[in-house]
Amino acid sequence: RPLLIILGAIALFVIITFALAAAALGTLNKRFNDLEKKLVTTTTPISTTTNSTPSGSLASILAETVRMQDLLIHLKQFESFARENGNTRAIGTAGFAQTVNYIENQLKTNSYSQLQVIRETFPIQNFSIKGDPILSWSSNGKTENFTYSTNLSRTDFTYANYTAAINLTIYELVQVKNYGCNKDDYANTTGKAVLIMAGGTCTYAEKGELAATKNVSALLFYNHGSTTSSLAPATFRLRQANILPALSLSYAAGRSLFNLLNSSNSVNVTLEIQRENYGTFDVHNICAHTVDGNSTKTIMVGSHSDSVPAGPGINDNGSGSAANLVLALNLARLYSSNSYSKYPYRIRFCWWGGEEIGLTGAIYHVQQAQNSSTPDDLKLFNNLINLNYDMLGSPNYIFGIYNGSSAKAGTSQKAINGSIRVSEAFRNWFNSQNLPWDYTDFSGRSDYGPFLAAGIAAGGLFSGGDGTKTETQRDIYEAKLGQGYGGLPGATYDPCYHKTCDTLKNIDQFGYLKMVQAAAYMLEFLGNQTDLVTWLYPDGRPTQIQLPEDYFPNSDYYV
Ligand SMILES: [Zn+2]
Repeated sequence: RPLLIILGAIALFVIITFALAAAALGTLNKRFNDLEKKLVTTTTPISTTTNSTPSGSLASILAETVRMQDLLIHLKQFESFARENGNTRAIGTAGFAQTVNYIENQLKTNSYSQLQVIRETFPIQNFSIKGDPILSWSSNGKTENFTYSTNLSRTDFTYANYTAAINLTIYELVQVKNYGCNKDDYANTTGKAVLIMAGGTCTYAEKGELAATKNVSALLFYNHGSTTSSLAPATFRLRQANILPALSLSYAAGRSLFNLLNSSNSVNVTLEIQRENYGTFDVHNICAHTVDGNSTKTIMVGSHSDSVPAGPGINDNGSGSAANLVLALNLARLYSSNSYSKYPYRIRFCWWGGEEIGLTGAIYHVQQAQNSSTPDDLKLFNNLINLNYDMLGSPNYIFGIYNGSSAKAGTSQKAINGSIRVSEAFRNWFNSQNLPWDYTDFSGRSDYGPFLAAGIAAGGLFSGGDGTKTETQRDIYEAKLGQGYGGLPGATYDPCYHKTCDTLKNIDQFGYLKMVQAAAYMLEFLGNQTDLVTWLYPDGRPTQIQLPEDYFPNSDYYV
């Protein structure tokens, strides 16, 4: 009987979620055509003679070249790569390989010899769990096994992705304080197995990484049980570099260990996890830089090219990948036209692989770029700014601007100052276009993270993911865009975030076009600065441009 009630509740929840998502998409997409028409009529003709005084309504020649049909051509390609390959473009799949090949091919064939294309390749581990993992506890002379099943609703525990293997081993068990998001939570845990509750302000991967720095021996995560969907063991990924055996327990199993720890002097747990290793598979970054421009002063424009396994990732991040491609190809076309003044800086466009498992492509690039063996013109310190575009076409969108002043503690103040200038320049453009805008998270949860952590200013746009649009936002957007165009308050910005339904239908074309125009404007605006170094770094650059030893990506939306 209780099971039926739970199933009923879940079914109802699923139905409501889908209904809301469908309603949101339908309503928003219908409104696009009207809104586009309305805006087109207010657009003044474009002059394309010189870029020192762009006279078009978008205040940027490059922005005037952005056409929705070009973006759609790329998005349709991405969608078909997913459709033909199990509805995903995640790393390790043919959908990802085809995405990367397509981007590389476009850059090589359509850039009028203005861009030099480089492919970076790095390995990712590939393995599965062999047999059934074992977990048991013993306390006060009593021993009990937990049940393992591959059926999540029936099992007491499952393994964490990227768990280490371990032969049958006994550990003393201790409870981690709070949620295990701070170093202090791991007092007296050296050499022991730790019990960690789900939740808090950090990801599973971050907990795993913190625990490793405290020389913990094994990780037992358990779900928090506060909703019906958080009773079964959670599935999530640790860092690829994780070295600890790690299991994910149901709320009931975790709670029973918690109670034992609180009623007994000592609890031991026994673990066994066997892995089948399949070696590694390759992941790729594609970068393309302008042949012209000062290589020691590089403007980088990045976006990730991989999706999550769960879906085709057309908004996340086909939208950013296609935007980046249109910027690169349109800039190359302008460069080849002779009527457009080339920027004094090198521009490098990059498509990062493996963002969804922890910014792996961007981190690999940063690490390579600070290697002494890297050619001077490709060194990390040449990068003055990293512009990042990850999700630009959310159906219930906001015009989100990374808020430069909300960087994580420990970020170089000089890099923050430059980032704030970029945030303000984006804000000024949206204001000049009479468009609404919001400041959004800048805590390093996308590929700009390792660049910012290394002391390089960063900026970018984000149309919203699994956050919820507020009434206030709706009112502000409606006031600017017209009645009925403010989106749906109470609904997430992207109801298909990391889901099967993140298809072309999930893109709001009006919001998307404006975001890509803003990105184009920013590239041209920075490219035309007479002294970009001083503009970004009025107090000079940080003395060291380097990824800190203890850097770990604040990435995992994907948990
Ligand atoms: Zn993304």
